[in-house]
Amino acid sequence: MDEWKKPIDSGKIPESGAHFDVIVVGGGPGGSAAAAYNALNGCKVLLIEKEIWPRDKICGDAVGGKSLSHVKELGVLDMIESTPHYVVDSIVFGSANGAEVRVMLPEEAYEKMGLQSGYSLPRMQFDYMMFKRAQEIVRENGGAVIQGFSVNEIKVEKTENTHKITGITGNIGGARSGNENMSFTSAITIGAGGYNCPVSRVITELHGEDHRDDDHFCGGYREYWDNVEGLGGEKGAIEIHFIDEVLPGYFWLFPVQGNRVNVGIGMLISEHRKLKGDKKKSLKKIQKWVINEHPRFKDRFANSTLVPGSGKGWQLPFGSPRKNPSPLYQPRRAAMAGAMCVGDAASLVDPFSGEGIGNALLSAKLTASHFDKDLHKEGFTEDAGIEYMVALWAALGSELTNSKTLQKVMKWKLLTNWFVKKASKKEEIGKMMSEMIASKESQTKLWSPWFLMKTLLLP
Ligand SMILES: Cc1cc2nc3c(=O)[nH]c(=O)nc-3n(C[C@H](O)[C@H](O)[C@H](O)COP(=O)(O)OP(=O)(O)OC[C@H]3O[C@@H](n4cnc5c(N)ncnc54)[C@H](O)[C@@H]3O)c2cc1C
Repeated sequence: MDEWKKPIDSGKIPESGAHFDVIVVGGGPGGSAAAAYNALNGCKVLLIEKEIWPRDKICGDAVGGKSLSHVKELGVLDMIESTPHYVVDSIVFGSANGAEVRVMLPEEAYEKMGLQSGYSLPRMQFDYMMFKRAQEIVRENGGAVIQGFSVNEIKVEKTENTHKITGITGNIGGARSGNENMSFTSAITIGAGGYNCPVSRVITELHGEDHRDDDHFCGGYREYWDNVEGLGGEKGAIEIHFIDEVLPGYFWLFPVQGNRVNVGIGMLISEHRKLKGDKKKSLKKIQKWVINEHPRFKDRFANSTLVPGSGKGWQLPFGSPRKNPSPLYQPRRAAMAGAMCVGDAASLVDPFSGEGIGNALLSAKLTASHFDKDLHKEGFTEDAGIEYMVALWAALGSELTNSKTLQKVMKWKLLTNWFVKKASKKEEIGKMMSEMIASKESQTKLWSPWFLMKTLLLP
């Protein structure tokens, strides 16, 4: 049996009422990494996940270079490399009029910059290895791990003029222990429960702020297909197509291993709502149309088969800046006294590429440099929460803001058609795009007037 399909023994369930330095709600990549980094810092951690491994997660399955650096640091890279995975050496961008450019991500050049170009592999496999390693690190450092435990209440203590999160209550479901309710307390509770995380909901509710904003939330739909023409093997391109019917979102084709390809569509929820007449369809129906009828894709799917049961939808909370009351809380309030959020729970998905794993891991690591078990023994203060949010936006703000601009630009169809055509002919643009994908410093170059004039307007 494949390693990632086996159950994970995560040890003894602690007694209800136990106290921990850190409770992490959610065992996806963000939660696993937050639990591991804080445990490595000497904290007694409780890592909680509502599912029981192995479990699927709807995703494009692309794990970029930013993610891989954390994966390596946590000792998971060798595990990943010893299982089947696809090495991404390039990205094909297609524009609405059918022009395509292939942007190379040369491994050697990336290694020189201390980066890795990226892999794609099913999240069933990736998340399994992240959780497996995290639960080892947590337990080696005196903590505990519970799978199949759904957090349904966040404990809030009202202090003089503010609120403080002090722990959680949840439910061990199923046959394992007959729906037993249990509570745990902690100095810090880390919300890593994804786009609908109960910790992040309580943080925004207590501050009278919106949790969901359809101008910044994206719908995503994924299927697995076998034998899509032109894709497969162990190494090569992933494809992103800005086709008319999905703009400003995109249609993706990401090979994951062998002949299997992750195929999906993502579209901003507010834009999806604006579709009218014949165009007003669910993402599932739009994808069906693209696969069966789109002139550029139908032949590529002529001999393909859909993996039964693989079609599922989910949401992506984007990290694009909001019109919110304070620049301290961009993109959304992600911390308060007693709590910090990471990954999708902090709304950190890149609004252009749809990548969220890298930012989930980065934010997870940041929590460990903001929580100190001795300093915050009596609790993690509101000010400490603000410091975390400021540091998070300092690390990701310019990158996420640039991506929001790119996302808006993609709506101007004629411009993107022209850009992709130009890029397919001009090597310098391809190189710039390759660097941009690798490093956030290079992204600022894109907006430099001199660079734009030189590369785009001059022949
Ligand atoms: C269609 C689609 C395509 C995407 N493509 C890509 C891509 O190619 N590359 C990329 O980098 N990102 C992609 N993303 C984004 C990426 O999936 C997320 O950003 C990433 O999973 C965030 O990790 P996380 O740990 O914060 O949250 P999640 O991965 O959502 O993990 C949250 C965990 O918390 C658990 N949980 C939830 N509620 C509770 C509760 N009450 N109690 C206990 N546990 C709970 C869940 O079971 C889950 O395991 C895509 C997303 C979608 C929807």
